[in-house]
Amino acid sequence: MTYIYDFSEGAKEWSDLLGGKGANLAEMTALHLPVPNGFTITTEACKDYLKESSGLNEKLINEIRQHIQSLEQQTMKVLGDAEDPLLISVRSGSKFSMPGMMDTILNLGLNDETVVGLAEKTGNSRFAYDCYRRLLQMFGDVVWGIDKNKFEDQLSFYKSQKGYTIDTEMTAEDWQYLVDVYKGIYMETLHKHFPQNPMEQLFHSVEAVFRSWNNKRAKTYRRLHDISDDLGTAVNIQEMVFGNSGLDSGTGVAFTRNPSTGEKGIFGEFLINAQGEDVVAGIRTPQPIAALKKSMPEIYAEFCEISEQLEQHYQDMQDIEFTIENKKLYILQTRNGKRTAKASFKICINLVEEGVISKEAGLQRITPTMITQLLHPVFEEEALKAAVPFVKGLPASPGAASGQVYFTAEAAKAASDRGEKVILVRQETSPEDIEGMVVSEGIVTSRGGMTSHAAVVARGMGVCCVAGCEELQVDEFLEQASCGDVTFGTGDVISVDGTSGLLYQGSIPKKEGEEQELLNKVLDWAQELSTLEVYGNAETPEDIQTALKLGAKGIGLARTEHMFFGEERISEVRKMILAVDQKGLRKPLEQLKKYQKNDFKEIFQLMEERPCTVRLLDPPLHEFLPKAEREIEDLAIATNRTPAQIRKRISELAEQNPMLGHRGCRLAVSIPQIYQMQTAAIIEAAIEVSQSSGFSVVPEIMIPLVSTDKEMSLLRKQLEETIEVIFELYGHRISYKIGTMIETPRACLTAAEISQSSDFFSFGTNDLTQLTYGFSRDDSAKFLNEYLNLKLLPSDPFQHLDEKGVGQLIQQAVDGITASKGAAQIGVCGEAGGDPQSIRFLRKLPISYVSCSPFRIPAAILTIAQEEIKEQAGKLKILNKLIKEV
Ligand code: ADP
Ligand code: MG
Ligand code: MG
Repeated sequence: MTYIYDFSEGAKEWSDLLGGKGANLAEMTALHLPVPNGFTITTEACKDYLKESSGLNEKLINEIRQHIQSLEQQTMKVLGDAEDPLLISVRSGSKFSMPGMMDTILNLGLNDETVVGLAEKTGNSRFAYDCYRRLLQMFGDVVWGIDKNKFEDQLSFYKSQKGYTIDTEMTAEDWQYLVDVYKGIYMETLHKHFPQNPMEQLFHSVEAVFRSWNNKRAKTYRRLHDISDDLGTAVNIQEMVFGNSGLDSGTGVAFTRNPSTGEKGIFGEFLINAQGEDVVAGIRTPQPIAALKKSMPEIYAEFCEISEQLEQHYQDMQDIEFTIENKKLYILQTRNGKRTAKASFKICINLVEEGVISKEAGLQRITPTMITQLLHPVFEEEALKAAVPFVKGLPASPGAASGQVYFTAEAAKAASDRGEKVILVRQETSPEDIEGMVVSEGIVTSRGGMTSHAAVVARGMGVCCVAGCEELQVDEFLEQASCGDVTFGTGDVISVDGTSGLLYQGSIPKKEGEEQELLNKVLDWAQELSTLEVYGNAETPEDIQTALKLGAKGIGLARTEHMFFGEERISEVRKMILAVDQKGLRKPLEQLKKYQKNDFKEIFQLMEERPCTVRLLDPPLHEFLPKAEREIEDLAIATNRTPAQIRKRISELAEQNPMLGHRGCRLAVSIPQIYQMQTAAIIEAAIEVSQSSGFSVVPEIMIPLVSTDKEMSLLRKQLEETIEVIFELYGHRISYKIGTMIETPRACLTAAEISQSSDFFSFGTNDLTQLTYGFSRDDSAKFLNEYLNLKLLPSDPFQHLDEKGVGQLIQQAVDGITASKGAAQIGVCGEAGGDPQSIRFLRKLPISYVSCSPFRIPAAILTIAQEEIKEQAGKLKILNKLIKEV
């Protein structure tokens, strides 16, 4: 295989071999755009070089010589010619653009002799010596590792001696003098001369570019951007064109659309009488591209035309480097431009509307991360680069927040009431902390995983959260947290990045998300193509409204226990729990029913006729009892008991393994009245909303944590009896459904039997994962990291569904249900329902919907559409193949 391709041979698809820059230079050459001649040394040559570690091999040296010869023929100039020398640039370029990470050398081919020729030929010796000193500087730095500052210092020193302030004041003689000074630097630091032979310069430079693949900057960039270390870089050798050859020359960089807003129109910068490096290096402040329109209108028009052509050709916004030499325009590079999330949406939508790309193609360009960035605030890029994180936890809920630290929900609430921005830092959170969580800008926990209480609740509220910072020592009592030498206490300011999981000291400026219109457009397109519906997990009016706004077609999980925590309600809940007999139970239950019925009416009104699944009480009762001594005393007074009696009841209810204990439907088996009360509230609310609004509300009542068919049929019978009584009371019947939340392995294995007394099914993947592995959701952060480091698990199973184990159980359950009932309503309401990777698996089961936290809905809708598009494209391919075969 050959190591080198001429620009006239390659194409944009060859970026593996030619790097992005080389492939696009070839593509533009084929489009007959004004690209200076040149050739590309392949990434294969680089990989061989790095492997062999014995310098450039024979084959490569020969090929370079051959291609230099043909470049000399193309340009009618000769490398090293004393009168009209060929000058070249040596440019790195790998498959993925790594701007500024690797090295480029310009003006190669200059030496003591050719510099005179260049001066005479152009009649501009100032220009010639300027080019020469640049070569000395770049070659010294890139190839032989001489500190750049040595050159810069000499230049500054010389300028100050002369009383100059800017480079353009330097005369030919000044630059000529500086060339000698620069040569002196070579002798001083390396005791070597700058190589006068251009071929020698070239070979050294090619090696240096190969080596730059492994410099520290490049390595770090690759690690941060998930680019493989094995790709290697290509090297582009190209005839030089000179933007620094006078006032009708210049150089610039432009985007075909605004990279931060996406607005259509050329956006860029330009410098008159300058070489490419000057713009990037910030030596002189460039002018906006409009300046070019004024000074060289024809060139500007030509550039606009080429930009348009490139954008149409690549079907995407382009980032273009150009140079003008004596009123002639050259294009030196093009690539798909980097842009903000907002610009991505805007550009994508505009390209579809302009007919450049199809809707399907447009949808494939949007990523879940872009949606997240669009919806949530993010830290400003520059500020974030400058900040140093002190600890990393799990990126539990995206977004960015800065605020003052508080260690209890009450303190957080009080601070927020004072108007402070609050970050709640706790070992872990529990339902009691809700009020503090709601008012926080960000939530940090030292324990708990991706489905811990903090993570799930924060995601639901769209509050940013970093969970499971195991290295952070949180002392809630001393109100202090520390990690390494960083310690902070109440009132100290920290910043939380819920997208990366990183925490920073102090405040970092951020920019707001929220570009609803752009998002809606894309969601509309996606929903046209989806076959699987997306519902929201929500129960408060705000969350339900958010879910609907973000595209939810129903509510897949309304958790009733969240409704137990209001100030008045919790005391009724506690009275209920403390009740010893039927009589004691009745009163608090009646009170609670009133509250719940109102909640349900609100929900049904908001949902109109959309499906809405309400899950009956799930957590163990002791979660609702007070912990603090003062609260225990208050409760004793309110219930006419002694604190000792209260404490006794608390200890009676305490469990060794609450997650595996007296909760979910097991509660209803021993105290049927609670589920009966909730069911009555749901049905009454549904009847009343149906009657007053004319909607036909069909409530779906879901029973959690079922593991046997007998449990399900018993509870169903109890609830049906309650419902019949209400129908009679109201003299009005409505349709309803009673269904099972499938979240134990046994329920999966016996789903066919359970389905006999169930109208619908919804997989609770969080508990199902916990019970399948036997991993506690609240403690797994302690050991999961080690599992991931050692690759014992491919990923956190609470984040991405475990297809092999948990997925197999779900598959069996789905098969069981369909075998016994035919097509049935089956959903997924755990966190997996909002995770793109898990959705790709789940949609094939098949199921009827996934349900997730409101802020995850858009990414879920997008993922489903993208999968659909891929599948259709795949089918089309097979069809075409079949047609061809026939
Ligand atoms: P990067 O990948 O860091 O952008 P480049 O290889 O594009 O590095 O080159 C750096 C600068 O040198 C750019 O401004 C580019 O336009 C300029 N440059 C590269 N090759 C030439 C050339 N043949 N003639 C004139 N300028 C060039
Ligand atoms: Mg470039
Ligand atoms: Mg559960």
